[in-house]
Amino acid sequence: MSTSASSEQLFARALQLIPGGVNSPVRAFRSVGGTPFFVKSARGATLITADDRELIDFVCTWGPAIHGHNHPRIKAAIAAALENGTSFGTPNPYEVEMAELIVKFVPSIKKVRMTSSGTEATMSAIRLARGFTKRDKIIKFSGCYHGHSDSLLIKAGSGALTHGHPDSAGIPASFARETVVLPYNDRAALDAAFAANPGQIACVIIEAYCGNVGFIMPDAGYLTFLREVTAKHGALLIFDEVMTGFRIARGGVQEREKIVPDLTCLGKIIGGGLPVGAFGGRADVMDYLAPLGPVYQAGTLSGNPLAMAAGIASLRMLEDRHIYATLDALGLRLRNAVVAAAKTKGIPVQVPQCGSMFSIFFTDTPVRDYDTALKGDAKRFTKFFHACLDNGVYLAPSAYEAGFLSTAHDGHAIDRACEVMTAAINGL
Ligand SMILES: *Cc1c(COP(=O)(O)O)cnc(C)c1O
Repeated sequence: MSTSASSEQLFARALQLIPGGVNSPVRAFRSVGGTPFFVKSARGATLITADDRELIDFVCTWGPAIHGHNHPRIKAAIAAALENGTSFGTPNPYEVEMAELIVKFVPSIKKVRMTSSGTEATMSAIRLARGFTKRDKIIKFSGCYHGHSDSLLIKAGSGALTHGHPDSAGIPASFARETVVLPYNDRAALDAAFAANPGQIACVIIEAYCGNVGFIMPDAGYLTFLREVTAKHGALLIFDEVMTGFRIARGGVQEREKIVPDLTCLGKIIGGGLPVGAFGGRADVMDYLAPLGPVYQAGTLSGNPLAMAAGIASLRMLEDRHIYATLDALGLRLRNAVVAAAKTKGIPVQVPQCGSMFSIFFTDTPVRDYDTALKGDAKRFTKFFHACLDNGVYLAPSAYEAGFLSTAHDGHAIDRACEVMTAAINGL
């Protein structure tokens, strides 16, 4: 491949051979307009595009890069593992170290199984919940995205929502019937769903802090309520912490909110930038998995040594809990800058933020679920997005995605981003 080709030239070639020119729809610029840029390298908080532009990155590879891009310690860990081989098809020592770290950081997890993506983690957790409870139905919440398996791609967030297909074509109605979709943050709806499906709900899966319809936090007490209701009805509670795990706190949302789910799904940060997912939880439930139990789940590259080495290096750097206070301070600075600029300009805005996750919704309605997220002015967001991008600040190309910070955003990157976002709001 020629490395000097421009983004425009690369995209033209990609469009011929790759549907929409992208290997994951969220990367397309269709909802904000324009051509997606190609990145040839990344370091710290900075992306360097094929056109030699430097961008301050608030997407952080959609979550994994909590230490910034191409961190020297992760790079060194991958290089060291590479010396010994790329895949063995047998158990390897890294898998044990990874399992020990996960169980230490996320105490609700007593046993864990590695996968190669978050999608596999959620898909497998759901199958396990169904096998364990011997029930078929599941409950999910509108706007929550749990990867792209059939049972979960119903009223989904992320790219499915951005591109107008929250219910994907290709999912048989008979499958969709087994997925009950409820509004996030709505207690009465949950009670009603359990009453309408007695003894039939295998599990409730939730993004405990929702990050795929923009960033939304639960009302006080809502997660405790979920825990109580699922326990009462013998349904498993699955926290999908693929995005929030190791990010909202070292032990994820469950640590911050002091909730003990039955199963937890992980991904993103756990791979240090390589393809990894994991699911784990109660030992009696996890022992239902093959080869011990009747629920089948597998993966040729699961526990891959390079991916484990990268993930272990990424997690080891989280031993220092000060990281989370630093990230929260950065997030708060960004939030305050946006809120202040919008106030001065008289533009309604909501900026939910917790630690290194945030969203900017242009609406005066507090955002607490899918319907209120859609009240955000997407046209205004598009204008804001392009003004930021033109001035070297990259946000996710959608009004319905969270923003991410990394420890590498400390200092110049955050100062510059606050300036650029303030100017972008002034120009709206
Ligand atoms: C990204 C994400 C997934 C899917 O993970 P992939 O690695 O993209 O398959 C699942 N759940 C949540 C909450 C996510 O953010």
